[in-house]
Amino acid sequence: MTDRGTSLDPWYDSYAQRTAGLSASEVRALFAVASRPEVVSLAGGMPFVSALPRELVTGSIDRVMEHDAAMALQYGGGQGLRTLREHIVDIMALEGVRASAEDVVVTTGSQHALDLVTRLFIDPGDVVLAESPSYVGAIGVFRSYQAETVHVAMDDQGLVPEALRETIARLRAAGKRMKFLYTIPNFHNPAGVTMSRERRIEILDICRSNQILVLEDNPYGLLWFDEPAPQAIRSIDEDGVVYLGSFSKTLAPGFRVGWALAPHAVREKLVLANESAVLAPNSFGQYVVNAYLDAADWKAQITTFRGLYAERRDAMLAALAEFLPDLQWTTPNGGFFVWLTLPDQLDSKAMLPRAVKELVAYTPGTAFFADGRGGGQMRLSFCYPTPEQIRTGVKRLATVVNDELELIETFGTAARPAPVPDAAQTVSAPPPNMS
Ligand code: PMP
Repeated sequence: MTDRGTSLDPWYDSYAQRTAGLSASEVRALFAVASRPEVVSLAGGMPFVSALPRELVTGSIDRVMEHDAAMALQYGGGQGLRTLREHIVDIMALEGVRASAEDVVVTTGSQHALDLVTRLFIDPGDVVLAESPSYVGAIGVFRSYQAETVHVAMDDQGLVPEALRETIARLRAAGKRMKFLYTIPNFHNPAGVTMSRERRIEILDICRSNQILVLEDNPYGLLWFDEPAPQAIRSIDEDGVVYLGSFSKTLAPGFRVGWALAPHAVREKLVLANESAVLAPNSFGQYVVNAYLDAADWKAQITTFRGLYAERRDAMLAALAEFLPDLQWTTPNGGFFVWLTLPDQLDSKAMLPRAVKELVAYTPGTAFFADGRGGGQMRLSFCYPTPEQIRTGVKRLATVVNDELELIETFGTAARPAPVPDAAQTVSAPPPNMS
């Protein structure tokens, strides 16, 4: 085994250096097992698309095929469909963003926008600043461009400005080049917290004075429960922020339609990078989303999603309070995730095989750090399972946690060969989604 592959692969000496970042996660096989129906998965970040009325989608598809088939089935422009970009401007206005459709670039999900922005700014060895923890899919992109991801502390108000100042000063003294700060200010994945308005202003100010771009990733902003999140960071500053949005959580991820809103000069480069990567974003998906926004009551649908996820959040918080009252967790006011802190002696990655054996899955905290931290935490998703399944899942998790603690008390260690469930049977399982 080398950094780049296994010696069984005849090409392992030929791969580019940057593929060293493309390592399959150790928990991948377990997640394949976890997608069996008897396992309650609190691991994946899949939106509950079954709550989307079928006729809303089929109506949009029918209208596209009736009126726009020739264009929808054809290559489109590299920046994306103009009318869709106009809708996107209206959607961003709901979070205080004033923008022109000229500065929006439609991408293949916001994941692809993350990739394009990283491609534009990162040379090997450059630093990306990110929250501590941060989104697993972004860490993977940064790694694949050979960036060094440096985490900055966050608390229940989001990223801590003082920690950002200290980190920048330390990295600058070490001669590092910091290109951008990647932040998920609303209903953070995985931490579940939201950045306060004051912090948004202060953090932007710090980045501006240090010539560091802010990459604001906001796929969950409209999915608030108790009160809306503060206005977007991009609403405060046009020039220092690239803002990313997505239809994956408010409509459906299967369309793979997201976007970037960028300062003018960056936008031009983004379009070129988009064209070089995919020629044009998915025409059919864009037309369908556009038709949906034209004719369906999409705001009411988002309200339905909000109610559904809020109910699941409540089920998870109630189950945690009932079954794991001594632990600590975050209380999200929107989005999909709760971040749970384990007792000191436990390790979320080591415990996962036992949890899967008890028919519950979660994502170990280590997935959300570029530097190996996170063993003391885990991410619990409440987006996909029903409230009843969530309660069952948390109850099973409590059994695992308490058993581990008992073992430690009795034998001084919980470490013992954990029986890995039969991964061989999982070859045909769909790709596990832990994003
Ligand atoms: N950013 C964050 C914070 C996410 O949670 C996700 C999906 N889980 C994405 C970006 C990518 O979403 P998509 O590509 O589906 O728009």
